[in-house]
Amino acid sequence: MIVTQEEVTSRFFRIGAGGAVAGAIHILTLLLGWYIETDGGVILTLTGYDFIESFLFSIIGGLMAGFSLLTAYFVKRLGAIKAVIGGLTTIGGLLALSSPVYVYVFKILEVNLRGYPDLGFFAAIFTGIIELGIGALILLTPLKKEIVYPVEAATATVYPPPPVEPSASFPPTGRRAATATVAHIDIAEDVEEGVCTICYYPLTSENAVKCSACGALFHRDCIDAWVNLNHFCPSCRAAIYG
Ligand SMILES: [Zn+2]
Ligand SMILES: [Zn+2]
Repeated sequence: MIVTQEEVTSRFFRIGAGGAVAGAIHILTLLLGWYIETDGGVILTLTGYDFIESFLFSIIGGLMAGFSLLTAYFVKRLGAIKAVIGGLTTIGGLLALSSPVYVYVFKILEVNLRGYPDLGFFAAIFTGIIELGIGALILLTPLKKEIVYPVEAATATVYPPPPVEPSASFPPTGRRAATATVAHIDIAEDVEEGVCTICYYPLTSENAVKCSACGALFHRDCIDAWVNLNHFCPSCRAAIYG
């Protein structure tokens, strides 16, 4: 399967949004009855927020998935986006799930409170598991196997090789000579309106670099990721060192 970096990023944000919704619903379960107490002949409903530890665990855990999306918004590298959304959502899910478990073990069993768990207790467990599962799903999504950068995708097996121009009367060594050119990556200064040759997003003078052979402009992160896969300039095919 061929997917671009943008598609994988937006998929992480979409799945992460599911975790944020689960976290938000988890917080709302604090308003429901978590336990029906039958001690002393009086039936008493205890809500999630009646237990201070659960109140804190559930609020923090429930908000973490949403917070992870906010943080990932400021992160550029795909691996870091995955780690932030997946990691924080998983931690949030663990906290959310531990909230009702904590209540049951330390507040109900410990003090021998008689009664039975109520709907909110199960809803809190369920939403915590969903948040945790979504975080784990993101963390377990492999990155390297399925990502193909856009330009490489276009030149891979999908399209036949470009036909040789009839006017190209020079010997084929001309093409080979161009491939054998050696280039390196330079800082590009005074970039006003350039776009990155790899991702097509605008460049700024802080993150712009260029190929010394053809002058093609890239983001520093984009060409670093590119060179990891393939040591040739995506624009002129010069071999890139450094
Ligand atoms: Zn770029
Ligand atoms: Zn080049």
